[in-house]
Amino acid sequence: MIHPPAAEEIITLSKQAYGLSGLVERLPGENLNFRLDANDGKCYVLKFAGDELPAEVIELEHRMIENLISAGIDISLPRILPNQQGEIETKFRTGVGDVLRARLLSFVRGSPWCEADTPDAGLLRDLGRVLAEIDLVLAGLDHPAAHRTHRWDLASAGVHREKIALIDDPVHRRLVESMFHLYAACALPRLAGLPHSLIHSDANDENVMVDNGKVIGLLDFADSLYNPTICELAVALAYVMLDVPEPLKDGAEIVAGYQAVRPLSQEELEVLFPLICGRLCTTIAVAAERRTIDPEHPNWFVTEARAWALLKRLAEIDPVVGTTWLAGRGHLEPGLGAGAHLNALLKRRNERIGPSLSIAYDEPLTIVRGQGQYLFDIGGRPFLDLVNNVCHVGHCHPRVVMAGQRQMALLNTNTRYLHGLLIEYADRLCATLPNGLDTCFFVNSGSEANELALRLAETYTGRGDWLIIDGAYHGNTTLLVQLSPYKFMGPGGSGHPEPWVHIVPMPDGYRGIYRGQDQAAGEAYGDEVGRVICESCAPIAGFLAESLLGCGGQIIPPQGYLARAFGHVRAAGGLCVVDEVQVGFGRAGTHFWAFEQQNVVPDIVVMGKPIGNGHPMAAVVTRREIAEAFANGMEYFSTFGGNPVSCATGLAVLDVIEEEGLQARALELGQRFLLGLRGLMNEHALIGDVRGTGLFIGIELVRDRESLEPAAAEAAELVERMKARGMLLSTDGPLHNVIKIKPPMVLNEADVDMVLRSLEDELGQMARSEPF
Ligand code: PMP
Repeated sequence: MIHPPAAEEIITLSKQAYGLSGLVERLPGENLNFRLDANDGKCYVLKFAGDELPAEVIELEHRMIENLISAGIDISLPRILPNQQGEIETKFRTGVGDVLRARLLSFVRGSPWCEADTPDAGLLRDLGRVLAEIDLVLAGLDHPAAHRTHRWDLASAGVHREKIALIDDPVHRRLVESMFHLYAACALPRLAGLPHSLIHSDANDENVMVDNGKVIGLLDFADSLYNPTICELAVALAYVMLDVPEPLKDGAEIVAGYQAVRPLSQEELEVLFPLICGRLCTTIAVAAERRTIDPEHPNWFVTEARAWALLKRLAEIDPVVGTTWLAGRGHLEPGLGAGAHLNALLKRRNERIGPSLSIAYDEPLTIVRGQGQYLFDIGGRPFLDLVNNVCHVGHCHPRVVMAGQRQMALLNTNTRYLHGLLIEYADRLCATLPNGLDTCFFVNSGSEANELALRLAETYTGRGDWLIIDGAYHGNTTLLVQLSPYKFMGPGGSGHPEPWVHIVPMPDGYRGIYRGQDQAAGEAYGDEVGRVICESCAPIAGFLAESLLGCGGQIIPPQGYLARAFGHVRAAGGLCVVDEVQVGFGRAGTHFWAFEQQNVVPDIVVMGKPIGNGHPMAAVVTRREIAEAFANGMEYFSTFGGNPVSCATGLAVLDVIEEEGLQARALELGQRFLLGLRGLMNEHALIGDVRGTGLFIGIELVRDRESLEPAAAEAAELVERMKARGMLLSTDGPLHNVIKIKPPMVLNEADVDMVLRSLEDELGQMARSEPF
């Protein structure tokens, strides 16, 4: 902390270094700026900084201003005037021992924007014009010191999100969290692809100087940096839109003025609204942090209340509408409102689509776009997708999209011709599996793959009975519904297994028969498989098991379970089939295939969902001898399975998992999640259990930790509350009380932290019975 120099010290410095004498007066604001009314009849500003300001940054400011002046910018700028030695800064020691660095600047006249009269359209457009002219000039300049970040760097505003926890009011926290989320989902992922340049980056309402309906000056180049160019405009808009009756209308005038000089691309226009929100959130988050340091500080909170007010207004506006307004097409809105659109679509869907298909959430979502870990509704609002394990490498991953598109434009046909991609893909898949699992079949869905696995095992063993885990779901065909307790024991089901289906207990360490037995539980549950085999005396063709139980309630079987169970099955002459449809391809974090966690090698592996990142494909991989036994004269053919488009897509998915290190990321983020969730469990008795591996996590809610009474209604409510905050979760498990987390694997730390903060808030509100 440096102390302001005394007036006499400033006067002495002015004389000695600059040959000027006169009167000095401190200027308002955070910076150590003094006005010098010199006796040469001119007015100057003396600006002081401590040693924390690198000389390169001062040089950067100087170069920027000189460039703008020589390019003929028609506003006045705080030009740095050299001292009598020709240097742009003067170092000196104050009476209290601080080393200060002084700069003499030319004085910029006019009134700051915030003190000027209410701006008319002409002034608003003029500001846009000036900023665009500045950006065009600065685009031709670069400087090493500009490649930096700082507190107000709008391209890195996400660093402030953790400060949300410092805000006292939960309603306020929810608002700023959701607007930071908007910034993170709608702006951040797109910034890297936008034009970058050196920008002033701080055209706030104290720095823009106005006179007679025109912008006549711009102050304070201290925040300048190399950034997406659009951030220049976004910062200015975030201030100009404060306190005005029609912020988007005023904003549109500035954008129009800007575009008249530097037209914006559609991509730049689309990030503007979320960037403005990001800047307001930064102001609020920084104020929250500063309040913990000095709640009475005279300068730190001047914008905070105004930023809250504007943020609240912007939160009411769909991002698509905000963008339309800022782009100057506001008069075209609103057309069919979002609510009316939803109702019309719902009605038509109910008329045309089979009613056995449900729709997620109390109020359905109309999702129109996906990118990375985010889905966007028709209004452009982002939702963090925490449940879609199909879009494994991120929604619409460009590499996967490109691979599929390219192949679709070249050839798509069945597998009765030779094609290199089929072989390459089969090789790549087998390379991820233990030796011996070397023969592939390609189909189109998890159900089809499981059906094929059943046929393979039945043909190989000559038997037809199956062992299945209680609560399991394996597919939608007649046979698989008969084999899935999740279905036949559920609503509309027969309520009992077919004679060829033998149910083994769920290896559930939390509420199953061997709960709490940690080490011994795996083997004990495994022996249950042996018991069922013995008691049924049935000719077992195989045991079909998910390596981790999805629909069963995100259950992680205890160690030793599969090894013991497989031992019993094989002793009885059956095959061991693992269903990796939900959990494969690195999701478990520690291994590429979840069964590897249990140190077993199955006879058949079934793959689906993530395999094509949303492209409908699936596969079965088995040992050669099993595939040969299946080739008994009856041909197996799938019209679409293994087509070149699917193979190209599947290869791209494998490439992305590898190149982006997604398995390791799943492990890391999973640990972050589990740690945070276990912390929440300590605070909230409603959370009975937290379990998971990698990005496959379950939160089991109970009303009583002793009786384990399931809290299904609470789980459903928590899911709805999180959806209202822009985070998509769902419930599962036989008691419907387990919240599932199995997101696209491109999630990031900030997403995890947002989910944890939000869960904490919502659980707190639920405990206090506060509405959402
Ligand atoms: N197995 C498991 C474990 C599944 O979760 C599912 C789908 N939820 C299937 C198989 C069936 O896959 P699909 O819907 O692609 O037929």
